[in-house]
Amino acid sequence: MDNSINGHTKVLGLIGDPIEHSLSPGIHNTICRHLNLNYTYVPFRVSPDNLKEAVKGFKALGVTGFNVTIPHKKDIIKYLDEVSKEALLMGAVNTVKNIEGKLYGYNTDGEGLIKSFKSEHISIKDKKVVVIGAGGASRGICIKMAMEGVRHITILNRTRDKADNICNVINSNIQDIARSAEWDGSTLRQYGEQCDVLIHTTPIGMYPETHRCPVKDFDFIHSNMVVCDLIYNPFKTVLLQKAEEKGCKIVNGWGMLLFQAISAFEIWTGVKIHRDLINRLQKVNRS
Ligand code: NAP
Repeated sequence: MDNSINGHTKVLGLIGDPIEHSLSPGIHNTICRHLNLNYTYVPFRVSPDNLKEAVKGFKALGVTGFNVTIPHKKDIIKYLDEVSKEALLMGAVNTVKNIEGKLYGYNTDGEGLIKSFKSEHISIKDKKVVVIGAGGASRGICIKMAMEGVRHITILNRTRDKADNICNVINSNIQDIARSAEWDGSTLRQYGEQCDVLIHTTPIGMYPETHRCPVKDFDFIHSNMVVCDLIYNPFKTVLLQKAEEKGCKIVNGWGMLLFQAISAFEIWTGVKIHRDLINRLQKVNRS
């Protein structure tokens, strides 16, 4: 079968605003091509005012499924028929599946990070984790890590309330393992020097401000620590460069992006993506 669109083509999509920068169409259409599946993945720029109508339209058109990105991850929930427990705790949905006109919501962001770690042979079970930042990405990964059995999570954020809020969700719904503090040099040192895994989730160091680094003093960073930066542009932020110089294992955000997409694709199609295709997609990261 060739890959041209025909009467049997099933449609997958992405809604967000803005949408032009998204790497998801490239990832999903590459997977469809490699697996010879008759699906196509299309980005749709949808403003908040049009969200309800867009969702109705997807139902009417029989779209198989779609991803949801900023600013709709939270607001989409009210238009869905069912939402996974995980996505409800995260307060955000990034993947919707249409089953016979009913819309089911999931969140694969946290799973993306866990699978990215696994692909690097990193287990977070029973680990002490420090997370810098308490925005949407932090919330998704902290909740998932709590569900996956980390020993404890410390969330450091400029605005302490937001970190507190994530900790409350974890401590009251999953297990009592989360604590928060305001993020500054001294709290980072205090909690950071005892941790096994340090995860940075703010945009500091992201393109175009690639010279910036969220960590000023690297003395507390030790070589048996894993340092992860959710940023994937650039692939190796200043934080990751410096952590690597200290002998740490480093992980960037490309794996999380890729694996959240793979999990979404598996939800929509039921097709399991094989290791050799994942390896090929991961190579983009190393080229
Ligand atoms: P968000 O919801 O806007 O949260 C941003 C967080 O960063 C907040 O905790 C904010 O602190 C903090 N922050 C921002 N600028 C800061 C500054 N100058 N100083 C101190 N703290 C600052 O954003 P998000 O959706 O969580 O995304 C955060 C990062 O993760 C981005 O770089 C994004 O590209 C990346 N990301 C990666 C993936 C992936 O798949 N790899 C997925 C999602 C996001 P306050 O609470 O004090 O405002």
